[in-house]
Amino acid sequence: MSNSLVLVINSGSSSLKFALIDTVVGDAVLSGLGECFGLPEANVSWKYNGEKSEYALSEGNHHQLAVDRIVALVEELGLKDDIIAVGHRVVHGGEKFTSTVKLDESVLEEIENLSDLAPLHNPAHVIGMRASMAAFPTLSQYAVFDTAFHQTMPAKAYTGAISRKLYEDYGIRRYGFHGTSHYFVSREAAKMVNKPIEESSFISVHLGNGASVCAIKNGMSVDTSMGFTPLAGLMMGTRCGDLDPSIIEFLLKKGWTQEEVFDELNKKSGLLGVSGLTSDCRGVIEAMENGHEGATLAFELFCYRVAKYVGSYMVALDELDGIIFTAGIGENSQPIRSKILENLKIFGYREDEAANAAARFGNKGIITQPNTPLAMVIPTNEEWVIAKESMALLHA
Ligand code: ADP
Repeated sequence: MSNSLVLVINSGSSSLKFALIDTVVGDAVLSGLGECFGLPEANVSWKYNGEKSEYALSEGNHHQLAVDRIVALVEELGLKDDIIAVGHRVVHGGEKFTSTVKLDESVLEEIENLSDLAPLHNPAHVIGMRASMAAFPTLSQYAVFDTAFHQTMPAKAYTGAISRKLYEDYGIRRYGFHGTSHYFVSREAAKMVNKPIEESSFISVHLGNGASVCAIKNGMSVDTSMGFTPLAGLMMGTRCGDLDPSIIEFLLKKGWTQEEVFDELNKKSGLLGVSGLTSDCRGVIEAMENGHEGATLAFELFCYRVAKYVGSYMVALDELDGIIFTAGIGENSQPIRSKILENLKIFGYREDEAANAAARFGNKGIITQPNTPLAMVIPTNEEWVIAKESMALLHA
């Protein structure tokens, strides 16, 4: 394992996820989560060698305390000297960052300057990065952007049908997210169908709590469903996805505050809002099987919307080598995938029920019948991409 570990950090406003990736084999040696930052119950928990542990954080700067705890932990486990770099996940790189960059003060400032575009994420990333730079002063650190992969989209895909001035003055356009995931699964899919990535075409369907579809041509993103922010596109766990913007004005006129409207659309919509029960796909499906009306509608709507996006992205491609399902729901939910394929029957998709049942819990595979268009399941690995990108730049 010597000199092959990259520490991957995903710092949020009240949490910090981390993983120590062995870049030779691609596995997480150690993974963990700091949460409840700012609250008395702030803690860091982690998994190492299959064993789970937890550590309560004392009062103070919880981002710094969590990173300090990670440093102490890797020292205790005898792993610290094997860490060669730190890779940070950054949600928004705007148009400025089209690939991974090495962190320095000016990059930190640029990421901070983009906070207008991602007010919940970018400031929290910078806090985590500063804590990590203080804790690992001798290691090179890198920023890997969710938006970078989508910077290859043509203007017709990223431009809103609004005055150009709004783009020029404020940068209002489609940016797209989940880039590391769409990047990773498209490379794996090309291997699966035995094609060079430069000559392949896929539609990648990332269905987690957040969800997005991406049209990928010759390995490059040519369109994606998330937009200016991760609120656009598909129906998600708690986010509404595409919506007539007039609804916002309507609710404001009804006396809702701006905060209430955006809280509703971000946190109370999607599977949760429509089912009236839960944002968790498993809970929705269980309730549907027990005849719950809201859950049944949430399921139908979710699958219909994914299929509509997949159908519309046929337009962005000249040919299609396969639809890729990934992330928590995409990798595990046989009924969701089955329903989406049923909604796509006009294009010839036919589920292979046994194959669909088998491709779960980390197993990849093709889930459509022989001699019909391909759909496949590929587990994503965003941490691995962040680690690999960091290592590539370290050795560049
Ligand atoms: P995040 O966007 O938070 O990274 P994940 O990719 O972990 O999200 O996906 C979370 C979603 O995956 C939840 O809706 C959860 O219900 C769903 N999920 C996880 N395991 C299963 C499963 N076995 N069957 C159906 N859905 C699942």
